[in-house]
Amino acid sequence: MFTCPVLCPAECCKFEGLEDMPVVLEDEIDVLTREARRIGARLHFTPAGEYNGVRLYRWIIRGACPFNRNGRCTIHEIKPLACKIFPLAVNLKTGDVYLSEKCLWVRLNGPRPLDEFPAEKEALKRLLVRLGALR
Ligand code: SF4
Ligand code: SF4
Repeated sequence: MFTCPVLCPAECCKFEGLEDMPVVLEDEIDVLTREARRIGARLHFTPAGEYNGVRLYRWIIRGACPFNRNGRCTIHEIKPLACKIFPLAVNLKTGDVYLSEKCLWVRLNGPRPLDEFPAEKEALKRLLVRLGALR
């Protein structure tokens, strides 16, 4: 069963290429912006199109996410669904669900069935419902 190793350097929370950066929903921007104010960080988002009429935004993070401290997410309970589903990832064009090789656990354990990611699978369902892709 998937669980983050205690000493994982959390490369998943560091970003370089635009394609890697989380895609978030409009209401998630509000939550992130509020949390960023608490820690004096400024966040940037750019429109990333829409899916079934739902607007999507790319969260522009250069380098480490400001909410990551010592490899741990400090907003775990309220982080966006794009983070909650990780290391699962979904290609919205094809509907393919896959495991991100950016995750150390995935690289160490190889391809595994989605049932080994119960919390992430549940978050993925919530995301697909939000996007009107699941009822
Ligand atoms: S919100 Fe949390 S899980 Fe998402 S990138 Fe930032 S530190 Fe990582
Ligand atoms: S999701 Fe993967 S890369 Fe990120 S902290 Fe967990 S094991 Fe490490």
